[in-house]
Amino acid sequence: MNSPSDSNDLFPTAVDALVFVQVAVARPLRSLFDYQVPPGMALPVLGARVLAPFGNSKIIGVVLGHDRPEDPSRTKQLIELLDVTPALPAELLDVARWLANYYQHPIGEVCGNLLPTLARRGKPMTVPSEEAWVCAPDISPADAKATIGRAARQIELFDYLYSAQNKPAGAESSPTALTTQQLKDAGFARALINALLEKRCIEPRPQVPGSTLINANPKGLELTDEQSQALNALLKDQHNYATHLLYGVTGSGKTEVYLQAITKVLGSGRQVLVLIPEIALTPQTVARFRDRFGAAAALHSQIGDTERLRIWLRARDGLEPLLIGTRSAILTPFKNLGLIIVDEEHDPSFKQGDGLRYSARDLAVKRARDLNIPLLLGSATPALETLHNARSGRYQQSLMVTRPGGAQLPSMRLLDIRGVRLREGLSPELVNLIAKHIEAGNQALVFLNRRGYAPTYLCGSCQWQACCPDCEARYTLHNNPRTLRCHHCGRRSSVPAVCGGCGSASLIPIGAGTQRTEEALAERFPDTNLIRVDRDTTRTAKRLEAQLDEINKGEPALLVGTQMLAKGHHFPAVTLVAILDADAGFLAADYRAPERTAALIMQVAGRAGRAERPGEVVIQSLHPTNPVLTSLIHGGFSAFADTELEHRKTGGMPPFRPIAMLRADGLSPTEPEALLRTMVSGITDTFAAEQGLQILGPVPAPMGRVAGRFRAQMMLTATTRKALHGALRQIVTTAPPSRHGKLSWSLDVDPYDTY
Ligand code: ADP
Ligand code: ZN
Ligand code: ZN
Repeated sequence: MNSPSDSNDLFPTAVDALVFVQVAVARPLRSLFDYQVPPGMALPVLGARVLAPFGNSKIIGVVLGHDRPEDPSRTKQLIELLDVTPALPAELLDVARWLANYYQHPIGEVCGNLLPTLARRGKPMTVPSEEAWVCAPDISPADAKATIGRAARQIELFDYLYSAQNKPAGAESSPTALTTQQLKDAGFARALINALLEKRCIEPRPQVPGSTLINANPKGLELTDEQSQALNALLKDQHNYATHLLYGVTGSGKTEVYLQAITKVLGSGRQVLVLIPEIALTPQTVARFRDRFGAAAALHSQIGDTERLRIWLRARDGLEPLLIGTRSAILTPFKNLGLIIVDEEHDPSFKQGDGLRYSARDLAVKRARDLNIPLLLGSATPALETLHNARSGRYQQSLMVTRPGGAQLPSMRLLDIRGVRLREGLSPELVNLIAKHIEAGNQALVFLNRRGYAPTYLCGSCQWQACCPDCEARYTLHNNPRTLRCHHCGRRSSVPAVCGGCGSASLIPIGAGTQRTEEALAERFPDTNLIRVDRDTTRTAKRLEAQLDEINKGEPALLVGTQMLAKGHHFPAVTLVAILDADAGFLAADYRAPERTAALIMQVAGRAGRAERPGEVVIQSLHPTNPVLTSLIHGGFSAFADTELEHRKTGGMPPFRPIAMLRADGLSPTEPEALLRTMVSGITDTFAAEQGLQILGPVPAPMGRVAGRFRAQMMLTATTRKALHGALRQIVTTAPPSRHGKLSWSLDVDPYDTY
């Protein structure tokens, strides 16, 4: 049609008729890419995934704009449109933009984080319908019993299905099939389903994707006054944004407040999202929600990709009324969200440690505000920034200082071990105290946040220490099997018979980890059941559950463990909590170390005295006059927080000044530092002075080498967030790609730690 002579006139017209899109691709690149929509392809909606040419390959991206590029003639055509409707709904697109901006993270990678794994790989946003089961028609429970015989679990499964289908009038009417997953969640193994199928007691029925049935009106406990006040404060204005801090001591019944708040919101037909730190560590938590509501979808690391996508889609479509999940569950879309709860809001696991380093708690604030719904943050040891927000009136706060049902908070005291001869970390006085509690028929918990046998393996002749060749760190000595292990890179090595420095055979383990303490306690208490809980004994959720069951039998026992024992567990028979090594945490260099340690102490302490028997907490310390420690012991977490917030204020640290860490690592000792220096070289002294910006470093990281890579870091702080973000934006826009050659860098806004 077009003759070559007039192509110059016609070309713009032809381009005018074309449509262009801006696509975020999953690469560490900060810009969007322009593409042409080829003739015949439907116009991609915002949030749809597309397949596009990229360099010499193809890449999946998300459409974020429909603008005309400045130079349309140079754009390539999209290859394929993967979605008719948005893969990322509008609210998540907004979340994506916010995350990219706040954490200064490449938008394409942010979109990748928001998409479920299968969707990220370009799979359709659908899942096969689930296998589901109903009781065979015309078979009564009595018939079933006759057929099944003596297999008790099979009878239980039949009864479970039967009662699910024969709900009393008033509940949902049509008989529901239960999916294999739902039955598994309720504790029935696949083999049981097969057995009943073989006996023709149950039948498969394809699951019509309806809403998960829950008991939306369960009976709760009668609330204490403190609980009612907290609940009323939260529900006072159920349809508007507010962040509420529920600051309640351990065992004060925060969970019951959550449960009743959820009941209200579900009753109004809206969805609820509950974030919890680590599901594998606290199986009891999910069980409590399921017990109350009959069902709850759970999202955590052990959920497979298909199931994850299913839950994601069902939440988006409003079919999951209640979703409980770990950090990334905050990235789930909802049709009709009415409440977000973040349990143990201070927990470090809510902050992602690599890639997109977001805080799920902070994102929860942003989402609640945008959706105009309440957010409930619960903790016995709130993060200092949360406390600060509550004190300054930005958040509302409810206090709960007693335990319901008359259970007493444990008494706390320091045990001065200056000049005391310790045996494997235990003072004689502590051992006697443990004996007293065990003899009284109770359980004692010995807490030590260090696994392995001994943190140092030392030569008695020349002071040589066994060190990891790849890290700037000592090896930890482990038993069973006897090995040296690096806790930073995972490297293992056999235990040398002679010193690597002088060849002497006088190698000695120094200090104690949980294995060594367990060994010492076993020697001293040979007839007492010893249960050790750390990452070495407790590799699986199943194993942990077995250990928790053992503990909850309530017989006299000695529990030895790391922070795995501190998390949210309910141990009614524990009357003594002994904390062996609290000092280390307070002396660490990181600005947040005291906060982390204080929270951990209060959390472990909270395991004691949970029932009728009063509890006691004893903290061994070489620094019994340390003001941080004494304020905690005598005034509780709030007194500690007062002291610590003062320090933060004078030190110019969060929450008074925002900070960001810029980190780099590489194969040579000098390049990472040099890279950081170049990255900030565009920031002039005048700009810094105007903006109240401080740049500290670059310096080698406190652990200067990990897994063979040298690390450097730099801290940036400013008077205002706006100033800090202005500087960060300037730094990242002029920076080289975050991975180039053998060097890489990363940015951490509001870092959880500074090493
Ligand atoms: P938290 O989450 O604050 O640590 P929990 O919710 O685990 O505390 O509650 C501690 C214990 O108190 C649990 O055994 C719980 O069943 C019980 N409890 C909570 N609220 C009440 C109440 N109103 N009446 C009686 N017992 C309660
Ligand atoms: Zn030696
Ligand atoms: Zn190492």
